[in-house]
Formats: sequence, C-alpha cells, structure tokens
Amino acid sequence: MKKRLFTPGPTPVPEEILLRMAAPLIHHRHPEFRAMFRRIQTNLRYLFQTDQPVLTLTCSGTGGMEALFVNLFSPGDTIVAVNGGKFGERWVQMPRVFGITTVEVTVPWGDAVDSAQIVEALSAHPDAKGVVLTHSETSTGTSIDLERIAGAVRANSGALVCVDGISSVGAHELRFDSWGIDACVTGSQKGLMIPPGLACVALSSRAREAMAQSTMPKFYFDLQRALRALETDDTPWTPAITLLAGLDAALALIREEGVENVWNRHRRLASALRAGVSALGLKLFSRAPSVAVTPVWLPDGVSWKEFSETMKTGSGVTIAGGQGEFTGKIFRVAHLGYFDNLDMVAFVAALELTLQTCGYPLIAGSGVAATQAAFMK
Ligand SMILES: *Cc1c(COP(=O)(O)O)cnc(C)c1O
Repeated sequence: MKKRLFTPGPTPVPEEILLRMAAPLIHHRHPEFRAMFRRIQTNLRYLFQTDQPVLTLTCSGTGGMEALFVNLFSPGDTIVAVNGGKFGERWVQMPRVFGITTVEVTVPWGDAVDSAQIVEALSAHPDAKGVVLTHSETSTGTSIDLERIAGAVRANSGALVCVDGISSVGAHELRFDSWGIDACVTGSQKGLMIPPGLACVALSSRAREAMAQSTMPKFYFDLQRALRALETDDTPWTPAITLLAGLDAALALIREEGVENVWNRHRRLASALRAGVSALGLKLFSRAPSVAVTPVWLPDGVSWKEFSETMKTGSGVTIAGGQGEFTGKIFRVAHLGYFDNLDMVAFVAALELTLQTCGYPLIAGSGVAATQAAFMK
C-alpha cells in the first residue's frame, strides 16, 4: 500500500528533492558548496520576501526559536508572548528558562489573537523588548492576521516582532520586509518539503542591532558569528550539507511555481478540504483556519484509536491527533508543502471509507463531491 503522509511535519518530500539528497556529498569549505549556499540565500530571501539575511541553522524549528531568544534579548528583559496552543505555550516557557520576563497573552485554542490584546499588553509593559507570535498555530490549525498585528506593534512600541513561522513559511502569505517583521523562523520539515533538521531564521536590521546589546550566553547558536560567516557564503560549524542540497532543490521548486502561487495553492487546498469535511457533517475546530493544517472534531462515538488505525491500515494515510486537552477529540490533516488538488480528493475519499468503517453514517461520495465542487468554483 502507498504511504500517504498528511501530518503537519514531517511533510511529504518531492521525488526531485529525494534524488538530490541521494547524490554524493560535497565538502562545505569548497567553492561548489559556497555557490549552492549563495543560491540558497538568494532564494530564501525571495521565500521570506526580504532583502535581509536569512540564516540556516542545523537544528529543528525549536532550535531556531531558541537562537532568537538568546541572541535578541538579555536576562531580565521583558517580552510579550502569545499562547494560543501547544507552540505558543512553548514560546512562553522557553524564554523564562533564560531569565527573560515573559508576559503571557492567552487565547482560547482555536481563536486567533487580536491586535488589541497585544496593544493592551504592550501598554501595560512599555518596557517590552519583543512580541512573540505564532503565525500558524499547528496544534489548533489557527492563523493570525500577522500583517495587522505587526503593524500594531510597530505603531505602539519599539518591541521586536518575533514570529514562529514554522508551519506558515511556504504556505501562508508572509512578507517579512513590508509587514515590518524583525525575526521569523521556519523549519525544514514543514512548508519547505524536506526532512527535519534545518531551521531558517530571517533577521531585520533592528534585530541585528539588538543582538549587539545581548548579554545572554551562547556559543553554537551565536547568530552574530553565523552572520559574519554568511558574508563569505560560509557557516561557523559543519552544516547539514545533505539537507542544504535538499533545500536548494526545494527552493528551486518554490521559485518555479512562484511564491504567490504557492500561497494561493495552500488557500485553495485548505478551503476545498474544509468544504469536503463539512459536507460529511463533521465540525471544524478553528475559528480562524490556517491554510497549512485543518483540525476537525471527531464525531460522537468515533474513537481516535480506531479512526487513526483504520486510516492507516485501510488507506495508508497518516494523520495527526489532537494535542493537550484535545487529545482523542480532534484529528488534524495537513496540506502543507507538497500537496495538490487530487491529494485533497483522495484524503476525503479515505475519510469517507474510514468513517463508514467506524460506524458513522454518511452518503458515500458526498464529501468527495463537495471537495471537487470547491475546486470547480
Ligand atoms: C512544528 C512546529 C514547531 C516545532 O518545530 P520542531 O521542528 O519540532 O522543533 C514549532 N512551531 C510550529 C508552529 C510548528 O508547526
């Protein structure tokens, strides 16, 4: 049976990228690597829509976020962090470990934070040096109006706008420079369509200036060092060469499609999938749906264990479950990265088969028809 990964990281890797990563290794202190690294830099700037440097670090997305905290801030600094799900929660806990005073703005899971809530927190804490936002909260399939919120932060304070873009870069519209973002992180195993192990970090000039003031201890994640190396298309430590070759191939694919087309494709896939799922009578979880992942309430009487196992054994489909208090209550299906229209039709077909096996009554083909109808619109 064909294996079909519908999880929000890792995501499926296109054949072109797999082949590229199977090629013999090149050495990272040689000109052929530097040429590739330069091309990656150019294309990463295009992906983030920025003229500023975008670093690649050998670590998962979480390591990229840690790099932000230890480079932009100092112990005793105050920041504001939004917690509206599993990852937002992590961005409240992590800076506290480093002695950063973190003001938590909580949002119910499935709701998007409002710019007014951020402005309120900033007026209560005018000394805040940063605001940490999750563009697409993968645990709840919820996205925020980043352009608006970044604008509100800029208008009301000097705080750096720091973004977890791990499941949004390469899916959601994101314009680093024109939206006034200061730091944005993504991970390789999401919209970039390659295996886990790389984080990319875009940094504004304000962020780079803040780094010079930071007294936080760091060594491996010293971004000033990485920025200096980048000037000669180099890295301070041995990079994940194979993953960078994959990244080079992935960025070529994104460039070929066009980043705006990539964003539009994600919009189209997400909305067709929502139409298909809704036509089967299932309820969507998020009040502000992300285009990267769609969480859906499991119907009454259908257990997560039976549902996920039937999906796997009957259709070869791997999906993600709920996290935190929604474990066993929702399932999450990703359409992040290497996905097309037929993948959505196939997923809804698998969903129909699985629900029927689990005893949920439905008219076979009704979800598939609604998914197709959405694409015909
Ligand atoms: C996947 C994900 C992370 C965690 O990234 P790792 O690569 O697992 O460290 C953080 N934030 C969001 C929004 C994610 O989707």
